[in-house]
Amino acid sequence: MIQLIRGFKDILPGEAGLWQHVEGTAARLFATFGYGEIRVPIMEKTELFARSIGEETDIVEKEMYTFADRGGDTLTLRPEATASIVRAYIQHKMYAGDPVHKLYTIGPMFRRERPQKGRYRQFYQIDAEVFGIAGPYIDAQMIHMLHLLFQHLAVTDVHTHLNSLGCPACRPRFREALLAMLDGVTDQLCPDCRRRKDRNPLRVLDCKVPACREAVADAPAIVDYLCADCQAHFATVTRALDQLQVPYTLDKRLVRGLDYYTRTTFELQTGVLGAQSAVAGGGRYDGLVEALGGPATPAIGFAVGFDRLVEILSRQHTMAARPPALYIAALGDAAKEQAFRWAAELLEAGIQVEMEHGDKSLKAQMKRADRLGAGHVLIVGEAELAAGVLVLRDMQTKAQRELPVAGVTAALGALLQSARNSGDDGNIS
Ligand SMILES: [Zn+2]
Ligand SMILES: [Zn+2]
Repeated sequence: MIQLIRGFKDILPGEAGLWQHVEGTAARLFATFGYGEIRVPIMEKTELFARSIGEETDIVEKEMYTFADRGGDTLTLRPEATASIVRAYIQHKMYAGDPVHKLYTIGPMFRRERPQKGRYRQFYQIDAEVFGIAGPYIDAQMIHMLHLLFQHLAVTDVHTHLNSLGCPACRPRFREALLAMLDGVTDQLCPDCRRRKDRNPLRVLDCKVPACREAVADAPAIVDYLCADCQAHFATVTRALDQLQVPYTLDKRLVRGLDYYTRTTFELQTGVLGAQSAVAGGGRYDGLVEALGGPATPAIGFAVGFDRLVEILSRQHTMAARPPALYIAALGDAAKEQAFRWAAELLEAGIQVEMEHGDKSLKAQMKRADRLGAGHVLIVGEAELAAGVLVLRDMQTKAQRELPVAGVTAALGALLQSARNSGDDGNIS
């Protein structure tokens, strides 16, 4: 039997309800904040990711699914969404007229990482980007919106880590100080860091190898090197978060190694899954739109790890499938033909109906209705049809009532619609 690819997974109907719940919650919240949905392809020219994510990152060096297509182009399954959204922003000249655009997208990303529990090579992200706003309040508002997303999903153990990366004016000074410090500990660094250190010393700060973490424990903090403008920007962001009572920790290790990443950078962490782990991350990238060939445009964005969010939610909630309002137990061919037509009528009216398609005894059909959690069962046998009176059983109270065949769907429609309106709608619990 052919199995799915290692590192990939199926999302089965029982779990898909949670995914829909998260998607719906994010879409409603983001719409309130003025974000519109954008859907970009899952594949782009490799060059786009190489240029935007950076040649010297783990993602580009080791993790991308890259292949030559039959026309000779080199294509890559997107490892993240920002690059594609920036490309779309530039390609469709979305900056013309009003440069301010707030966009979000939800979908699969692909990275060939070492498979481990809870990590998939096709993983999902909720991604939001804002273009055209340089001021600091949008940074705080984005972090606020992220916190609200977790609040709306009832994930409470979430904490923001925050840092500023400065700008091209002030970062070189920090880079020099960092490089001087790293030169003293070179022999303690992992091979990757030793190789990258001179071209991209900031990357060492965010290396996960324990020896590297220890070696940079006393590294200088970038916030001590900010220029006056970057300082003022960061002060406003933190003050705004204080006012909104969004908790955060200043974290000097939180860096991104590429020049177009600027100023505010953040990561949301949670301890729900055991050790602290990141569930969302983002920051400003004021230089990226220009680096990819667009006009100089400030921008900021974040990505939420959808898989991990669902994993957290699945520990806290179950998502019950909505049970059918009615199960029609039909006995005999004539009854089944009649039941089929009634079921179709009720389904057209939006009422969830199930019926037996095989030849089962009444007892077996009642058992199935029970297992499905059906609200009511309509019993349709040859005798009932001949008498012109059907039996409707309320599965909760076990009460039975008789319904005349004439006008039965209208009667059922009214009855089941009102039962459904007052009942549980298959919501998260
Ligand atoms: Zn600066
Ligand atoms: Zn390292």
